[in-house]
Amino acid sequence: MNDHAERHAARMARKKAVIDAAIARAEEERGVLLVLTGNGKGKSTSAFGMVARALGHGMQVAVAQFIKSRTDTGEEALLARQPGIQWRVLGAGFTWETQNLERDRATAQQGWMEARRWLTDPAIHLVVLDELTYLLKYGWLDPAQVLADLAARPPGQHVVITGRACPQAVQDAADTVSEIADVKHAWRAGVKAQKGVDL
Ligand code: ATP
Ligand code: MG
Repeated sequence: MNDHAERHAARMARKKAVIDAAIARAEEERGVLLVLTGNGKGKSTSAFGMVARALGHGMQVAVAQFIKSRTDTGEEALLARQPGIQWRVLGAGFTWETQNLERDRATAQQGWMEARRWLTDPAIHLVVLDELTYLLKYGWLDPAQVLADLAARPPGQHVVITGRACPQAVQDAADTVSEIADVKHAWRAGVKAQKGVDL
């Protein structure tokens, strides 16, 4: 071997040792709490990608949509009728126009009580809480209660929370946090929401 090849081989051997040690360390099997936040596009679709993965493995999945903007999405048309999934719209009825805080709190609380049942059910492997962050941001749900319920869930259960401006306390409690940056969005160039891309 020439000098260069020897140095390369030695570097690769060191790299392999580091990677092997990291793989050996990551042996734990448990449910993880994931947060997908930030202003860029791709939070909910990433969560639905995990739903597809889980269903593909024959796992049981529950999806709560806390802010329901439209009923004609491709994900709902396809995923909501798959075996193994429960799909609930828990966010109908927030008073965006009248801004009745007490009513919104009651709606949010009612929705959370329903989602909470999944968080106590070990038969459900993956729970998606889509757009949950807004209920916390607007003060409709008590973050302490949400954190306590998440912490008390079955140890093998995965939970995904999506939405912009995820409170720091929820990010701190999460195992995986991805913040999607808004570098560009076609909407700002005048492109309306496209089927298969945005809905
Ligand atoms: P998606 O559902 O496409 O993964 P998201 O969950 O990251 O998006 P939301 O804030 O929930 O984002 O908004 C959902 C809708 O708004 C989608 O149609 C999406 O394309 C659009 N959208 C997301 N981010 C932006 C943005 N930065 N500017 C304009 N429109 C956006
Ligand atoms: Mg979304």
